[in-house]
Amino acid sequence: MSGETLHIHFLGTAGALPTPQRNPPCIMIRRGSDTLLFDCGEGAQQQMMRARCGFTINAIFITHWHADHFLGVFGLVQTMSFNGRTEPLTIYGPEWVHEFVKTLRQVARFNLKFPMESVELNPGSWVRFDGYTITAFGVNHGIPSLGFVLEEDSRPGRFNREMAIALGVPPGPLFGRLQRGEPVMAGSGDDRREVRPEQVMGRKRPGRKIVYTGDTRAIPFENLEIAHDADILIHDATYDESETARAAEFFHATAGQAGEAASALSARALALVHISSRYTDNTAHLSDAQKKYGGTILAPNDLDMIEITFRDE
Ligand SMILES: [Zn+2]
Ligand SMILES: [Zn+2]
Repeated sequence: MSGETLHIHFLGTAGALPTPQRNPPCIMIRRGSDTLLFDCGEGAQQQMMRARCGFTINAIFITHWHADHFLGVFGLVQTMSFNGRTEPLTIYGPEWVHEFVKTLRQVARFNLKFPMESVELNPGSWVRFDGYTITAFGVNHGIPSLGFVLEEDSRPGRFNREMAIALGVPPGPLFGRLQRGEPVMAGSGDDRREVRPEQVMGRKRPGRKIVYTGDTRAIPFENLEIAHDADILIHDATYDESETARAAEFFHATAGQAGEAASALSARALALVHISSRYTDNTAHLSDAQKKYGGTILAPNDLDMIEITFRDE
């Protein structure tokens, strides 16, 4: 459906080490009745409870196999089983996802009550959902690692009611047929003629787009067509600019580099995540990113939630 709500819950915004304020990486995206997890760090279940999201997860996407991004899956799967889940759960991730799910099955001594599948994704792989697509792209983190783009299908253009009436189409069922893309016959006698949808429908409108990099060094995003023009870019911002060398050494990005990426990609907003445990406030991160990017910049705390609205509303 075109009018679904779209929310991002920042359940975990820490880097590799949690802090008393920040949990390991976990981003929940809820679109309509779908709930997807992107990374599932340790403590994700309690964060889901605090966010009052429930445990009805449709799919889990893991960016890479560093423990801060996946340890929460073990407990979450057990809880889902305790709760009587019967729907299949698919875990998507880069290579080793099959080994991960196999290991989980082997070491977990509980009776898994629902089918659990693993699907390996590579850069360019995509997964289709009802009304949107998740596409994986490659990032630079020293091991096989993915970022993800959630992109909604484009929406039909606006219906020009006045034009339809002027062309002789009476308000009523014929309007609906035109809106569904069907030509209709209007007028009567000698004046009877076909009215085509393109005469009364505006241009298609883009759906909403969310880009999540997972962990990555600064990468030359301008060639990454799929990630352009997002409503929000959620980018690794482990360090501030004073640690640029360290960021490169450990395959992470600085807040300034996240800002550069947001500019290169023409993102409409930027969220800085994966904040190193060395920082107790994010003032430097925000000002570093502001020097490189003029759009809206967020440095979310754990449990912050934002709604992504349609651009023309
Ligand atoms: Zn990490
Ligand atoms: Zn990592």
